[in-house]
Amino acid sequence: MRPKRVLIIGGVAGGASCAARLRRLDEQAEIVVFERGPYPSFANCGLPYYVGDAISDEAKLLVATPELFRTRFNIEVRAEQEVLGINREERKIEVKDLRKGSVYQEAYDALVLSPGAVPIRPVLPGVDLAGIFTLRNIPDSRAIREWIRGTSAKKAVIIGGGFIGLEMAENLARRSLQVTIVEMCDQVMPPLDREMAEYVYVHLLDNHVSVQLADAVARFNGSEGRVTSVETQSGARLQADLVILSVGVKPETKLAKDAGLELGSRGGIRVDESMKTSDPCIWAVGDAVEVRDTVTGEFCLVPLAGPANRQARIAADAICGRPARFRGVQATAVCGVFGLTVATTGVSEKRLIQAENTNYEAVYLHPTDHAGYYPGAKAMHLKLIFRRSDGLLLGAQAVGEQGVERRIDIISFAIQKGSTVFDLEEAELCYAPQFGTAKDPVNLAGMVAANVLRGDVRLAKWSDLPGCGAFLVDVREEEEFKRDSIDGAINIPLGQLRRRLSELPRDRPIWVNCGVGQRSYYAVRVLQQYGFAARNLSGGYKTWEAWYPDGLPSGNAEIAHAEEYPSQGRAA
Ligand code: FAD
Repeated sequence: MRPKRVLIIGGVAGGASCAARLRRLDEQAEIVVFERGPYPSFANCGLPYYVGDAISDEAKLLVATPELFRTRFNIEVRAEQEVLGINREERKIEVKDLRKGSVYQEAYDALVLSPGAVPIRPVLPGVDLAGIFTLRNIPDSRAIREWIRGTSAKKAVIIGGGFIGLEMAENLARRSLQVTIVEMCDQVMPPLDREMAEYVYVHLLDNHVSVQLADAVARFNGSEGRVTSVETQSGARLQADLVILSVGVKPETKLAKDAGLELGSRGGIRVDESMKTSDPCIWAVGDAVEVRDTVTGEFCLVPLAGPANRQARIAADAICGRPARFRGVQATAVCGVFGLTVATTGVSEKRLIQAENTNYEAVYLHPTDHAGYYPGAKAMHLKLIFRRSDGLLLGAQAVGEQGVERRIDIISFAIQKGSTVFDLEEAELCYAPQFGTAKDPVNLAGMVAANVLRGDVRLAKWSDLPGCGAFLVDVREEEEFKRDSIDGAINIPLGQLRRRLSELPRDRPIWVNCGVGQRSYYAVRVLQQYGFAARNLSGGYKTWEAWYPDGLPSGNAEIAHAEEYPSQGRAA
């Protein structure tokens, strides 16, 4: 029988993985990879660190060379070959050799599309000035490095405060540039909920990065063809020797669209669970495809390396006749910024609100990454979102200096397996003092959430705080309360609560807070059993700081009852 001929378009994350897996499954297949750029199989995710010189040797970004593909895997990788079109009837592709300028055709039995995504370049006045960059490949990162060196750039403006924007902020700062981020949303890291992103925002400011939130670029100004400043819609004029556009990517679908392959509502290539497109001989993987969101069941675009690699393996299996099914994505992602780790999986609360889904609860925790008595423990901020009706896990976000990604990874896998908060309570995780706690943050998150679902504690929503009319009680110690407190709260330390019950109203809700939500939980248990309508402000003062960094919006301080307790209130 004639060996199968598999052609792959795109030779980086998805394309290279698919080719290697195919070879492992079919020694006889003829596998040819076409890559438009000069380097197949390079480490896209390392590019910001090459710009920042954390990786100084460019060769380290090359994961596998065409030579290695040939000798080790018997795979032909053709760099600087752009596929121009797909003739589905004749099962042929048309390819342009970018070195020679010639055009030729190649026939296939199976075709895999892994063309990735293209960075969005907003159509704005001045966007084509020199010194304005996007970052997608090695030549882009080289150009940015050369620009910094050649122009002795001092000031950088990054447009977009998402994952790549923040990685670039850190790396440009590492090269001693003064960095400003302009972000259209009212928060950095748009996949996170705003209050969780607040910790990242504060950390950026602490690291001397200026952040212009809820503002968008209006135009780029230049002199002699070079960018000199960025003007924003709010009227700010930011000096810039260098601009990075990191406002997102869009799937590279031209080939698929021209070939008449079905596209989805999000603009990506539509595939089935085996990554097969609407053509039975064509598969597609990576940033270019739409896949199902594990949690919502909706089609979505998740341009991340993990899904691209997993999908590539599934496509290879399917091409070789193996049963293979992609489970979907949860947008599990992690980013490091100035020593802080930010990680997320599943849906955010704001997405649930947008979808008008009210069947959920969210809890906040601030546990340490390992036992507090062992040196070096650091608190992390963790938010867990779950279905109110049955405890199904929906999403989690965490920010902290240590141990963050481990917890999100565990919850991510739990979500993928359809687990509940009750499963997290019971999760058996490795523990020794320097690595974790006997009740790991993941267990704790499950326990706190399960307490809510079992009715052991009722939650008050932070978003409802302004104007809620509740009686606010802070059960921390006096010194803690005097340092800083929630607007309008009165202080009854937990140890005094039982003998001071007469100070509390029985005709209105009582919302209780402490430092991180644990003592207030104990207090709510006491109050509930004495018949008070008590609720816990999950996450306590640490969460308050993230929700209301500037205090409660003025005019909404109906909760304030400190005037009834003049000896209390904030320290001057
Ligand atoms: P790519 O890896 O982009 O490969 C597509 C290739 O197809 C490109 O090289 C392109 O030249 C080629 N191509 C396109 N059209 C044609 C054509 N017509 N003919 C021939 N070749 C063609 N993800 C993470 O999970 N974690 C991270 O930390 C992370 N960091 C990132 C940092 C940066 C700066 C960037 C740019 C991306 C990062 N990503 C990260 C995303 C990740 O790199 C992508 O999700 C992943 O590479 C997608 O794989 P892919 O195969 O779909 O596309």
